Amino acid sequence: MRLYGKWQRPLPTTSSQYQHKGGTRQPVKVYLDANVLAAGFVRTLLLLCGPVAEHRSIWSLYAEQEAARHQPAGAVPISTVRELHHLTIVPDRRARLPLVDTSDKDTPILAAASAAKAEFVVTENVKDFGRADLEALSMSAVHPDMFLTTRVTDEEYCFVLESIAERRQRDPRTPAAIHAAEAPNKLPRLFLAHRDRFRLDPKIQPGNPARVQFRGARCVLCATISKKPDVLINGLCQLCLGATAG
Ligand SMILES: [Zn+2]
Repeated sequence: MRLYGKWQRPLPTTSSQYQHKGGTRQPVKVYLDANVLAAGFVRTLLLLCGPVAEHRSIWSLYAEQEAARHQPAGAVPISTVRELHHLTIVPDRRARLPLVDTSDKDTPILAAASAAKAEFVVTENVKDFGRADLEALSMSAVHPDMFLTTRVTDEEYCFVLESIAERRQRDPRTPAAIHAAEAPNKLPRLFLAHRDRFRLDPKIQPGNPARVQFRGARCVLCATISKKPDVLINGLCQLCLGATAG
């Protein structure tokens, strides 16, 4: 039996789930796009959720330098963040296939992610990653709002907010106050998913979610490649949809 996280919860062990993996969260490698690296709270959540929610974050120098250009003055350099989290940078490489429908500025991102064998690119601009390219590389592009809402459980999210709160010297510095102040605009779906847990004032309204949250061939939860990506609904395969509906 595999155990993970602070709560030592067992993962499901039925034989059918081992055979298909569909319906259960699988460990994945995610490449963080420059817009995510430059966004303090979103980046922090993705990095801290990784060890508890079974994803490993990577990026290359191209993304790091692109992010540095968009960081506010005085922000912690991305290279320092990388060192603090003991992450190694992956090489910038060409894709093993010609890329045909990804925007020019994101071609190096998708190429480096694919060369490093990441299953996902986590990005605020999913629409810039082409359907044909993602399908050819057996990858998906996912907005951080959908990625975190789909893969991180209530207990795990709370645990990560507690660890953020413990390090904070300034307000907001309780999990509920951090959730109320920082999630609604950047991560509206995540905000709604955990709002009741923190008993927040219902007058706090989330912003509008990004219009395109998912594109590609892999299920966000079980990472299975779908031969017909059109069947993925909200980034989930049929087995994961069934598992999360109940
Ligand atoms: Zn799935």
